Amino acid sequence: MSELTSDAALSYADELLRFGLAEGKVRGVAVSVDGSWQTAGAHHDYPPAVAQLLGQCVAAALALVATLKFNGRLIMQFRGDGPVKLLVVQARSDLTYRVTAQWTDALNATDLNQTLQTLLGLNAASPGHLALTLEPDEGTRYQSLVPIEGKSVASALEGYFQQSEQLPTRLVLVADGTRAVGILIQQVPGEGGTPMVRAANAEAVFDHLSIMMDTLLTQKGLVEVQATPVPTLLHRLFHQDTLVLTQVNSVGFFCGCSREGVGIMLRSLGRDELNAALRDSDVPGYVSVRCEFCGAKYAYDAVDVEHLLQPHSFAPRDDIRH
Ligand SMILES: [Zn+2]
Repeated sequence: MSELTSDAALSYADELLRFGLAEGKVRGVAVSVDGSWQTAGAHHDYPPAVAQLLGQCVAAALALVATLKFNGRLIMQFRGDGPVKLLVVQARSDLTYRVTAQWTDALNATDLNQTLQTLLGLNAASPGHLALTLEPDEGTRYQSLVPIEGKSVASALEGYFQQSEQLPTRLVLVADGTRAVGILIQQVPGEGGTPMVRAANAEAVFDHLSIMMDTLLTQKGLVEVQATPVPTLLHRLFHQDTLVLTQVNSVGFFCGCSREGVGIMLRSLGRDELNAALRDSDVPGYVSVRCEFCGAKYAYDAVDVEHLLQPHSFAPRDDIRH
């Protein structure tokens, strides 16, 4: 039954695997985002270069949120001033995510496989920034903002970890419009959160595993990552490094926008702006809002707008979704 062993015969799972390596000295996360990534992109018509970068950000954000011990949301944002302006991924600790991006008409199909610097228009005068925000369900929001360094999403994030967390971290990220794959390995923090620098040969072990990750960064290797289920990929890479799968979870696209949430946003605009929106709307007589994450449309007529502007009144009405 050769078709059962052929990768081409498999549909890829939307799954996240946690694993340990080298007798627990290194931890890792591998993530495959397939059908849900196609769903996330369905309303957006992303140019290939945007799908490539944004998919890499999705894989990275899910891998990172899986390394954190908290309940809440991680927001990863790359901002520049090139053909691509903005990449945003919000990943929750339950491994759901949503995305949005902004780009200009200057972007076209030939921009595929350009460096992150070129696509985001980064240079010494305009370094752009990478923002990582943690929003725990309970507790204080935390944001760190760093200039973008590195030619890829993966190297920019590795640089961030080097500076801020001081946890040696390696990432391989591959994506197109149909599938995103990420593999992250990270040295396990020792007591007090510091790396296990004192553990015998910990650095050498991590260096060895990094070299294994590097083997994926050739043209052929990247194609292999894109076309291989992650359990197979991990086995090929790390079968000699005491690979132990510790947990498998599914990942999925979930927006969470609502008519009430959009209403709260509209109310904050104030009466004058809402009246202007009613007057100038594409659909006369309605303020219409399209969710930038999932494409859901919400429409409010003059009566709804008046209702929103009343203090403390948020009686739900059925969503208008298209
Ligand atoms: Zn939405």
